[in-house]
Amino acid sequence: MKRIVIKVGSAVLTEKNRIAKKRMLNLVTLIAHLRDRYKVILVTSGAVAAGYSALKLDKRKLIGKRALAAAGQPILMTSYKKKFDIYEIDTAQILLTEDDFDSRKRTKMFQEIIDAHLENDILPIVNENDISSTPEQLFGDNDQLSANVTVATRAELLIILSDIDGYYDKNPHEHTDAKIFKIINEIPEAALLDTSSPNDPFATGGIVTKLKAADFLMKKGKKMLLCNGFHLDSAESFLLNDDHQLGTLFEPAKTDAEQISEQAKAKKTPENAPEKTNTRSRK
Ligand code: ADP
Repeated sequence: MKRIVIKVGSAVLTEKNRIAKKRMLNLVTLIAHLRDRYKVILVTSGAVAAGYSALKLDKRKLIGKRALAAAGQPILMTSYKKKFDIYEIDTAQILLTEDDFDSRKRTKMFQEIIDAHLENDILPIVNENDISSTPEQLFGDNDQLSANVTVATRAELLIILSDIDGYYDKNPHEHTDAKIFKIINEIPEAALLDTSSPNDPFATGGIVTKLKAADFLMKKGKKMLLCNGFHLDSAESFLLNDDHQLGTLFEPAKTDAEQISEQAKAKKTPENAPEKTNTRSRK
């Protein structure tokens, strides 16, 4: 069975400084359906916001953010557990830092733990361990963490659920004429250096960290779909019906050999000719 990683950001999971429970339930329902077809690993944000519902500390200060994360992580996991219980899905909590990907020995350790969970039908729920780690040990956002988890767990695809339909030629919240990209094969260097900050006060990423995650994955031959986490239809149709409607698919450019073999296949069965070209295209 194919492995996939789903990353949900705080923009989707939280609303007015607390967990957006209905949206979390929709995500849990989607994951329950996906498990017939995929082995799923979930990477989730939301601990700091969940902590803020219990105690009001300044999340812009490091100690405040950590105290909130420490209080919020069990609240977040309890919230997930209640919803996964509806579908009789057992969950496990995996807290990681950047250091866990530095040494082969440490990477192997959590790879084996996740393998054991997946083999036993347990859903691993990953988050960054920003409670006891130094700032140098942290990725700082779950986009980078989820891309690393995708590679380390030999998953094929990362789905990033955010508050937008995909990647646009400019910020859609600021420009009404922004156009969405449907497929991206290569990310221009300049886009990776952009300094636009995220929308939400609890968000740590913004679009640049998502592009960096996509760039990292494409260089490793893997795919990433950036799509809407408020309305899960695009993720669902992509994953369950192999139908790419909305959302930006980042996929490595095909090699000449792959293109030739596809063309040969298309010649034999014209009705199966691929709809999408291999170029950077807009919807
Ligand atoms: P999350 O919490 O899901 O990680 P972020 O708020 O960190 O979400 O990042 C998504 C936000 O990035 C969007 O809501 C949007 O405002 C902003 N953004 C900036 N430029 C772009 C762009 N070119 N395409 C899409 N989103 C963009």
